[in-house]
Amino acid sequence: MRLDKMLANSGMGSRKEVKKLLKSGGVTVNGKMVKDAKTHVDPEMDQVHLFDEPVEYREFVYLMMNKPDGVISATEDSRDETVIDLLDEIHRHFDPHPVGRLDKDTEGMLLLTNDGQLSHSLLSPKRHVPKTYFARVKGRVTEEDIEAFANGVTLEDGYATKPADLVILSSGEESEIELTITEGKFHQVKRMFLAVGKEVQYLKRLSMGPLGLDESLELGEYRELTVEEIELLK
Ligand code: URA
Repeated sequence: MRLDKMLANSGMGSRKEVKKLLKSGGVTVNGKMVKDAKTHVDPEMDQVHLFDEPVEYREFVYLMMNKPDGVISATEDSRDETVIDLLDEIHRHFDPHPVGRLDKDTEGMLLLTNDGQLSHSLLSPKRHVPKTYFARVKGRVTEEDIEAFANGVTLEDGYATKPADLVILSSGEESEIELTITEGKFHQVKRMFLAVGKEVQYLKRLSMGPLGLDESLELGEYRELTVEEIELLK
């Protein structure tokens, strides 16, 4: 692997910043100063130091974002801003992908990683990872809806949903609810409410599996997961 890539992947800065660090003479490989960004290193074998501090190489990055309304959960889009556009250069450099999708107008918890295996396992229908959403719904959400969701509802395309746990927080002309589902069909929460004749007006994901949204993240902000949080997801 190129030295500049290894340093960038270790969180030492963007490729451009890393090149500057190299030029400054702050980087040694196996005790020898190296200034050439193209130098080949083996992250497992070679001892890389930056200003005498060992550089810990890492291959994967794991991020939790509070996705804002109006942003697409994809890696690129010809028209709209994507969640990747919200990342700084250092994190973008790892080439992370969103773990599943939230609609453009859905807010809340979104995981991003370049660890394809973890992403795949979290999205696997076999694993039934629960996802909890907060929603504001037009109309009165009732006990019958709780029962209907618990038994599974039939969506407009004929798909019968798996049992889902609906909690009514308030019910009136507009209701507030929390809904936990264990699958991730396209527009699933909105379509489940349409199946009982109601319209979701605001949707936010609160949690995915064992991880809840870090409420200290403002909309559009993100942070790296801790080692403990990554372990919980595995
Ligand atoms: N269900 C939806 O309808 N939309 C989302 O973004 C996520 C779940």
